[in-house]
Amino acid sequence: MNRALLLTFCAVFALPLLESQGVSAQQGEAYDPEARLAELGITLPEPPSPVANYVNGVRTGNLIFLAGKGPKRADGSELHGKLGADVSIEEGYEGARLTAINQLAVLKAMLGDLDRVVRVVKVLGMVNSDPSFVEQPAVINGFSDLIVQVFGERGRHARAAVGMSSLPRGQAVEIEMIVEVREARARSEEQSAPLRLKYLGAAGWEISDGNVVVLVDPYISRLRLDGGGHPDDDRPDFARTDVARSDTDLIDSIITRADFILMQHGHYDHLGDVPYIAQKTGAKVIGTETVITILRAYGIPNDQLYAVGGGEDYQFEDFSVRVVPSVHSALGEKHYSDSRRYDRETDLEAPLRIEQFIEGGSLMFLARFDHHDVLTMGSMNFVERELEGLHPDVLLAGVNGSRLGLYNYDERLVNVTGKPPVIIPTHWDNFRLPYGFSQEAGVARNIVPFIDAVAAISPSTRVITPTHLETIVIN
Ligand SMILES: [Zn+2]
Repeated sequence: MNRALLLTFCAVFALPLLESQGVSAQQGEAYDPEARLAELGITLPEPPSPVANYVNGVRTGNLIFLAGKGPKRADGSELHGKLGADVSIEEGYEGARLTAINQLAVLKAMLGDLDRVVRVVKVLGMVNSDPSFVEQPAVINGFSDLIVQVFGERGRHARAAVGMSSLPRGQAVEIEMIVEVREARARSEEQSAPLRLKYLGAAGWEISDGNVVVLVDPYISRLRLDGGGHPDDDRPDFARTDVARSDTDLIDSIITRADFILMQHGHYDHLGDVPYIAQKTGAKVIGTETVITILRAYGIPNDQLYAVGGGEDYQFEDFSVRVVPSVHSALGEKHYSDSRRYDRETDLEAPLRIEQFIEGGSLMFLARFDHHDVLTMGSMNFVERELEGLHPDVLLAGVNGSRLGLYNYDERLVNVTGKPPVIIPTHWDNFRLPYGFSQEAGVARNIVPFIDAVAAISPSTRVITPTHLETIVIN
């Protein structure tokens, strides 16, 4: 697991730039010179040995200067003769192509991997020429064409193609090359796909590794609930006895795709928008039987629904997830307790009232993405023994006031999860305020003390303060 994480932030408005940079970098990566060689049916020979007191190539800084090579065949024979006298342009072209293969064999031996070539800088092509012969470029094209076929854009080079009155042993061409190279990258860096986490507010996240899009407790509507709204928020008030309503326009503007939805419990500020999102995206939903029963009442088809109890560890095509038993925040000064559960016998009729979104038991998830493991939390509570042995790269830590009612919450959480390199606070905001309203109070009250606590427990851990709808990129 790569624990040396590089972190960058980007605001939503900066994303298009970042995305386009990512795409161009990927295109560069995707052009694999050795795969191209295989497609061309070329097997590199053993690099030709120098025939005197010199070496095949010298590296200085990021440049490799390759000694001149000629059209030596696999059987040791060479193409000899003079262009314009006894060797045709076509034969000369083939000789130059063969020389390119020999130079690639030298490079491969020096670098181990031709993908380390940043670009081919300069080629000097010498053609054994009759004084009347002036078509040297047409001959050296045999070299240049193959180099560009193998390296793509990285293969385009500056070049001289000149005539010589004779060449060693009478060989028809001799060609030198200068290439720029990079260091071999660590295997972990080579494989790492960036993880993108977008904070949706409350305990909600959109997480993607480029292959799979996973939502966690996605609550977008942020209803003005229980009279807890802001004077500048002119939306209608909702009471717990009101019928639940999702802001579908807002959801449509934020959620465009989801492959999985991980549900940590059934309360409205977690599950309220999931009936609409599951229907809209066709995402597979993993949650307690209570959560699944609510979604069934809304008509979500069974093949999208996975009822779990905690302890399951499921492998899907591009993604695996371990379901971790948990407990809900100790609300109401620890007097909160709700043992109600829904199941197939429960008579629910959609749309539900807000108060019908009951907890139904709590879960956490260890979501395993391409090279990153994320441990999610939907509450300010956890079962310590259930987290033993889990070592996430990224912990989405429940961080609000109710955690203060628990014994050594911060220390036990950070230690039992193996001091994760990255911790991102979740469920710390005021979810009764719409997006765009200040959450500074929650940052000051919840996150700032948490950052101080983590700094003392695990100085190497980076705590990232998330902002609504902004994407955090973890490489
Ligand atoms: Zn809750």
